[in-house]
Amino acid sequence: MEKFDVIVIGGGASGMMASIFAARNGNSTLIIDHNEKLGKKLFITGKGRCNLTNNSSVETHLNNIVTNSKFMYSALNAFSPQDTIEFFESNGLKTKTERGNRVFPASDKSSDVIKTLKRCMDNYGVNIALNTDIVKVKKQNDEFNILCNNSIEYTCNSLIIASGGLSYSGTGASKFGYDLARQFGHKIIEPRPALCPIKLKDDISSLNGLSLKNVNLTISVNGKKFSEFGEMMFTYESLTGPIALSLSSKINNFDLSSSTASIDLKPALSVAQLEQKLMREFKEFNKKEIKTYLQSLLPMRFVPYFMQKICLQNKKVADVTKEERTKIVSCLKKFDFNIKSLDNIEVGIVTSGGVDVLEVNSKTCESKLVKNLYFAGELLDVDALTGGFNLQIAWSTGYLAGSSVKG
Ligand SMILES: Cc1cc2nc3c(=O)[nH]c(=O)nc-3n(C[C@H](O)[C@H](O)[C@H](O)COP(=O)(O)OP(=O)(O)OC[C@H]3O[C@@H](n4cnc5c(N)ncnc54)[C@H](O)[C@@H]3O)c2cc1C
Repeated sequence: MEKFDVIVIGGGASGMMASIFAARNGNSTLIIDHNEKLGKKLFITGKGRCNLTNNSSVETHLNNIVTNSKFMYSALNAFSPQDTIEFFESNGLKTKTERGNRVFPASDKSSDVIKTLKRCMDNYGVNIALNTDIVKVKKQNDEFNILCNNSIEYTCNSLIIASGGLSYSGTGASKFGYDLARQFGHKIIEPRPALCPIKLKDDISSLNGLSLKNVNLTISVNGKKFSEFGEMMFTYESLTGPIALSLSSKINNFDLSSSTASIDLKPALSVAQLEQKLMREFKEFNKKEIKTYLQSLLPMRFVPYFMQKICLQNKKVADVTKEERTKIVSCLKKFDFNIKSLDNIEVGIVTSGGVDVLEVNSKTCESKLVKNLYFAGELLDVDALTGGFNLQIAWSTGYLAGSSVKG
């Protein structure tokens, strides 16, 4: 039986960070992962470039956290976005800040982020057990015993669970952390997909791959409305792209069976302004076909779908009736789709839900129920919008757990 001061379960972003700070404080530290290498999810972040944080204030981060932002107040103040940048820079990783304050490695390679973390782990002597499945964990006489598939048994004084959420199972995601937390008496808030495509009841297969820029997307559910302005995309059966993904995180608590998604295709113009514009332009272009005219307002691929939706036959602009013109205006301002559900948790970029933060000390990430048990990262019931905010949650909670453990 091998003994360590601290064991970290999960070699992702939060686990690696936790192991570095636990070891830096002089604790003998072991990190266990069932994958063959560390940071498999980190590798695919930011389309392989890793948007490692957002170079903005703690307040901005808190505003971009959708679930339990208050819980993150201490962690973000203890290890801020600027601390993240400083940590990586001082350990040899050059970074750059792009549009929307998104921070990336200057090399555009997520592998360099993983290499930097690995180098730090080596410098502080973190032990690493890969390809290791944990069979059983129990707490006995103030020690945690961890039995692994290879019959190897480890013990430690402090245990940090950092095994992540449920999305992208190919990266090693598993429900192990939830089960283990439950075993220790913790409440698990039902995991739900977040930052994931929104499936529609309507047949949108002809729009697959089309993106709409500068539109306003509004989801109406249970008498509530959630809106985002920006870019979205259609897939074969879903809405996706930045604004649809953001909205998915805000509606994942609702029954979506009778909810709608409405696109304002001309958000810069009011109904009255759009009406005026069409009246003016219908006079000017009265010899054109309506289909050709609509192509000046909408992406070409969207026009047939739009016309079908409002049952508009192609004809000369001069022959379009007043009722038809009113309908065109109202559909440009509110083009409705019926929502079926969110896509599977597997394809969400992050998982909402997880270890109930009410049972975790926000100043240390230690369990309030079990002494010397800590949680970090996406396993906690905290999630944020895109822009580097989710990895910052992992770094900050990883830091807090790692630097708070008592070996
Ligand atoms: C496609 C994609 C792109 C993303 N891009 C970004 C981005 O650019 N910026 C951003 O801020 N966020 C991004 N995210 C989110 C971000 O990757 C996660 O929030 C972050 O990785 C969470 O870190 P974590 O340490 O909690 O979990 P993970 O990084 O998932 O690590 C958990 C680790 O635990 C291990 N594990 C699980 N079960 C067991 C077990 N039973 N035994 C041993 N080990 C186990 C896993 O193998 C894994 O290595 C992205 C996510 C995805 C899926």
